[in-house]
Order: sequence, then structure tokens, then C-alpha cells
Amino acid sequence: MPNAIIIGSGLGGLATALRLSKRGYNVHLVEQYHQAGGRLNQLKKDGFTFDLAPSFFSMSFEFQEFVNDAQIPMPFEFVELDPLYSVNFRDTKKTYKIYKNLDKLAGEFKTVEPNFRKNIEKYLASAGKFYHDTNELVIHKNFKNIAHYLLTLARVPMGHAPKMIRSFWDEVTRHFDSREVKEILSLVAFFLGATPLDTPALYSLLSYTELVHDGYHSVKGGMYKIVEGLVAEMKKQGIDITYHTSIETFEHKGDKVTAFIDQNGKKWSADLFVVNADAAVFRNKIMKKKSFRTEKLDKQKWTLAPFTMYLGIDKKLPELEHHSYFLGDNFEEYAEKIFKNNISLKKPYYYVTNVSKNNTEAAPENHEAVFILCPVPDLRFKTNWDDSEEIGNNILTDLGERIGVDLHAHVVSKTILPPPYWEKSFGLHRGSGLGLAHDLNQIGAFRPSNKDEDFKNVFYVGSSTVPGTGLPMAIISSKLVVERIEQTYGSLH
Ligand SMILES: Cc1cc2nc3c(=O)[nH]c(=O)nc-3n(C[C@H](O)[C@H](O)[C@H](O)COP(=O)(O)OP(=O)(O)OC[C@H]3O[C@@H](n4cnc5c(N)ncnc54)[C@H](O)[C@@H]3O)c2cc1C
Repeated sequence: MPNAIIIGSGLGGLATALRLSKRGYNVHLVEQYHQAGGRLNQLKKDGFTFDLAPSFFSMSFEFQEFVNDAQIPMPFEFVELDPLYSVNFRDTKKTYKIYKNLDKLAGEFKTVEPNFRKNIEKYLASAGKFYHDTNELVIHKNFKNIAHYLLTLARVPMGHAPKMIRSFWDEVTRHFDSREVKEILSLVAFFLGATPLDTPALYSLLSYTELVHDGYHSVKGGMYKIVEGLVAEMKKQGIDITYHTSIETFEHKGDKVTAFIDQNGKKWSADLFVVNADAAVFRNKIMKKKSFRTEKLDKQKWTLAPFTMYLGIDKKLPELEHHSYFLGDNFEEYAEKIFKNNISLKKPYYYVTNVSKNNTEAAPENHEAVFILCPVPDLRFKTNWDDSEEIGNNILTDLGERIGVDLHAHVVSKTILPPPYWEKSFGLHRGSGLGLAHDLNQIGAFRPSNKDEDFKNVFYVGSSTVPGTGLPMAIISSKLVVERIEQTYGSLH
């Protein structure tokens, strides 16, 4: 049986382990952090339990495909979100609940966008067509090279071409009049870690997956149940993870890597290796590839960095929905300037999960566990985070005013994780939260490949390789990398 070592235990690494094991590979994982999950991790503190980063996901059917392929039972229970989320505007103080049911959604917008029902149907029909015309053809595909990718793109109906040129913001502006609807629909661009002004309109397909296709799901008992469930399945199959193990270098013979070497000089040998660490960072730091040197990576487009805050509150907050966005009154200016640290973080835009609303075990009785995510500039644009406490207080004051609770007086536990934490703990370039951005020149065959350029037994899975970022994409990525491995090694079945 061939031996495979997976470097990193993020969702992409865990899913690849189970897919390979089912195909007869002997699999072992090494991980630099103290527990599995990568960014899909957990923080326990002062009696509160928080999911470290992801709080919900779309395209739940990708998990179904994965468990069918790995032949394991679904290791967690989905909770469908309804409403999907709510959005509050600072100036008008109005909150909109976002429903999948389009009649209910139209009701939310009846005063600001009277033609909403007609406009959204047109918008979603176009987004849905694009999704179905590209999902199997492009997103679920391994490409041999750029020519193969471009030839495949040529098979996408020409009518979609303008979506490659327009921005997401232009797309919503073509369909809707009100600032509220335009801003709310374009929030999905932030899920890609970018802003609607610099995200191509083709990602309006996310509006379709959000509002029509599959909505959003979280997990009963918290998102970390996904990881616990997968690790339990791995144990049954004899797949172990060695923690506190950071790969630093490697040895090779000809075009094959013979071993990766950790911080203690221990050699990890195998027939093949799958790298779940960031595919661009690993090629830079460990593989020392010139085409991925730091100056080159710095010139690429990276997704926004996370500034996250985990709060234990000594009272219930019925005012706070399960998932909410808090927007200001200068959306376009903010979106344009936030990346490059050209705007003050005194009145930031942020996202809040009231963790204990759906998951009561996350907080003691009559308490609330609250997670806040504020997208901020990465470490290229803001190096000093000594003001983290101040930024956290700005958010607490703002949120408190907006839900009518003096939050400062009720915080009994507070943890702030600024971009340097994300860079160091999970090896993310300059603390960028979601890896390489999804511009046209950084997706498909233009994204770092899931197959190494120099060594034929080294493969990659996860956010900065194909197809892209987010939990469903990590699952698709594991499918694509296993297909690549089978192309090289043949099926063991
Ligand atoms: C704040 C935040 C919020 C998010 N919210 C959502 C959300 O709501 N929904 C959603 O779908 N997605 C969300 N995402 C994105 C999602 O978390 C990621 O796309 C996904 O978890 C990435 O999985 P991955 O397989 O690429 O691996 P990662 O999670 O990046 O794991 C890679 C692993 O490799 C390890 N590693 C790195 N270098 C080495 C080395 N040299 N040696 C050994 N180990 C190494 C790391 O420690 C890490 O554990 C969010 C991300 C962030 C940061």
C-alpha cells in the first residue's frame, strides 16, 4: 500500500486523508498547530466555546458528495439558517432580515426597492445560469495547462462574457436602485475576502447559491463538530495526526521528494505528499521556488485579513440575530480604502455571530458567546497592531449603541486575534484570511496548481490552490487533488 503524508490538518487535508484512505493509501498527517482543523478551529475560554473562524457555509451538497466518496456517515448535523442573516445600517438604524423566500425578502425591501421581486428574479436567473454553465465545466475540473483552461472557458456560453469584465458592484447596480439592496447583495464578495468593487461579476453566482440553490448552513453543536467528526472517522481507519510539527525543509532524489523535515530535524518519508498548508506560501518558504518568492507574492492580490474578537457576555442578547452584518454609511468609499489601510478603523464594518443563539452549550446559562469578524488590511499595508485593544473597543461601543446594550459593562471574557496571529498560527501570507484572491488572473489554471511544478509526488489541497477559498471549495479541492493523484498513480482499487 502506498504511504501518503499530508502536511496540515485543515478541512482540505482531513477530507483528502479520508478520500485517499478509502482508495487504499496509508495516510498520516503532520500539523504545526496543537489541534486539527486549520482555520476551521475552536477556542475554549472562561467557560465559553467559540468557533475560531468559519461560522456558516453554502453548497452543503459538496459535503454529501464527499461522505459518499469516502464512504463514511455524515459526521455532523446541518442547521439551515433562516433568516440567512441580518444586515444593520449605522445611519438609518434599519435592520433587514435576509430570507431565501423571495416574497418574504421582497417584503423587507418594499419601501426602499419597490421593484425588488422583478429585479431579483432577473438577477438570480442570470447568476443561476452562470453557476450551472460553469460549475461542472470549470470549478470541478483539473486543468492540464493554461491552454486547456482557456479552451474550456471557450465552451462557456458567450452571453456570460460581460460578467468577466464587470465588477460585482457594477452587476448589482445594473439590476437594483437602492443602496440597501446593492450593498446587501454584494456582501457575498466579502466572503471571498475581497470587496465588490474588485470582485468580478461572475461571482454573482454566489447570490444564486445563497438565495436559491442551497442557502447557508451551520452545524449543530458548533462548526468544530465537522472536525471532531472527521477526526473520529480517521481514527477508525487508523489515520493519525502528529501535532506541534512544523515542516521546514525537504530532501529529494531527482524529481521525487523523499522526505519533508520538521523543526526538530525529523524526516517524514512517504511515497507521496499532499500539502494542505497554503499552496503559495509553502512553495515560497519550504520549496524555495523563485516564481513564488516573497516579493512576487506581495505583488499578488490577497484577500482581506481577519481581525477577530471572541466575547463572553454575562447576559442574554435577544437583540442580536444568529448572523448579522453591521454596515456604515460610506460603503463604496470604505470598500475602496479598507484594503490599503486608507481609512480609519474608528467606525469599522464588521460581522457578528451570536454563537450561543443556535448552540446553547457555547455559553453558561444566561450568558452569550459572541464572535466578531472585522475584515482589515493585511500586514503589507498595516504592520503594527498595537492598537488592537482600541479597535476592539471601537467595535464594542458601536455594536452596543446599535443593539442598545452597554456591552463594555457586560463583557466577562475577551480574546482578540489580529492579523499577526493568523499569519503565525496557520501560515497565512501577511495574515490574509482566505488566501489568494479570486481575480481572473488568479483562478483556474492561473491559481497555484494542485500538482507541484518540479516534484511528481507532491500535491496541494486547500484555499490557495484550485478551485478557491471557503469550506465547500476546500472539499472540492480534496476531490480534485485525489483525481490528480489517481492520474499519476492510477487507481489502487
Ligand atoms: C476569520 C475567518 C472566517 C472564515 N469564515 C468562513 C465561513 O464562515 N465560511 C466558509 O466557508 N469559510 C470561511 N473561512 C474560510 C475557511 O476557513 C477556509 O477557506 C478553510 O478553512 C481553509 O481550509 P484549508 O483546507 O485551505 O486549510 P487551512 O485551514 O488553512 O489549514 C492548513 C493547515 O496547515 C497547517 N500548516 C501550515 N503550514 C504548515 C507547515 N509548514 N507544517 C505543518 N503544518 C502546516 C496550518 O497550521 C493549518 O492547520 C473563514 C476564514 C477565516 C480566516
